[in-house]
Amino acid sequence: MTLTTFFSGGSIKRMAELRADAARLASTLNDSNTRFVAVWKSRCLVHGNAAALLKRAELGETWQPETGIYLGQLDAQHIFAVELPDELGDNGPGEVAFENFRGILGDLPEDDAALLAYAKGMVEWHGRHRYCGVCGLPNLSLEGGFVLECASPKCGHRSFPRLDPAIIVLTIDGDKCLLGRQVRWPEGRYSTIAGFVEPGESLEDSVRREVKEETDIDVGKVHYMGSQPWPFPTAVMIGFHAEAVSKLIHRTDGELADAGWFTREEIAAGNIVLPPITSIAFRLIEHWFDGWDGPRLAELNLSGDFSRRTGERT
Ligand SMILES: [Zn+2]
Repeated sequence: MTLTTFFSGGSIKRMAELRADAARLASTLNDSNTRFVAVWKSRCLVHGNAAALLKRAELGETWQPETGIYLGQLDAQHIFAVELPDELGDNGPGEVAFENFRGILGDLPEDDAALLAYAKGMVEWHGRHRYCGVCGLPNLSLEGGFVLECASPKCGHRSFPRLDPAIIVLTIDGDKCLLGRQVRWPEGRYSTIAGFVEPGESLEDSVRREVKEETDIDVGKVHYMGSQPWPFPTAVMIGFHAEAVSKLIHRTDGELADAGWFTREEIAAGNIVLPPITSIAFRLIEHWFDGWDGPRLAELNLSGDFSRRTGERT
């Protein structure tokens, strides 16, 4: 079984075949029915608790159409992501506002969250590829923003949207699970172990290395559970359950302030704060936790939310 995660399963049709059709994309940009998802300084535009979809005229004079990123079709409307200039200020047009995406996650309908995560992920990727990584000249946006090509004809290097894969794992030993508290997290806040996959590693290698580095626990079997887009800025979280083959925790790399084995009873007692319910970390813990006759984890209201913390990774 794979877990269902927040941000995934959005209903937008990506229409990849349209990206290479420059003429059709240009007319789509000018279609009065087309809508735009705006990102400003990594913040997303919302209206109340919903994604704000702007008309072309609402983007203002400073916005350059060639920077629009074609996301696809939602219901009968074509949707573009746009990054608005820094000097705009933090008020969007009319009744809408730019909000810290992490802070509003739990309030958004899932489909809106998936759309904003997609838009933010693409805009963040553009922001990190303004210049060619080979020769340093500016990149030009092609194919609806899904190709960035070096402006130097001699170089011509092309970049494509790429993600940073990160593993996230709940390690289990019988009736206990392994949770850690990062140094910058508040007292009482615990979550799963996570880290970026390194070159030359399989995902399973990465799970074993991260758990070993952070807790000195050896991991045996590793089971894939599900994944989650994580546009902070361009990650994808790949979630696992892992079976521990050792018990003694020793924090070795300084990333964790504390780590421990927790039973369901200890978690249910409410002594620790778990990750937000919108995170794959919560889903990984929940899937293990709910394998008993006691209360369901979601009913216990033990989740923190993102808005009250800084430096949240999972
Ligand atoms: Zn170049």
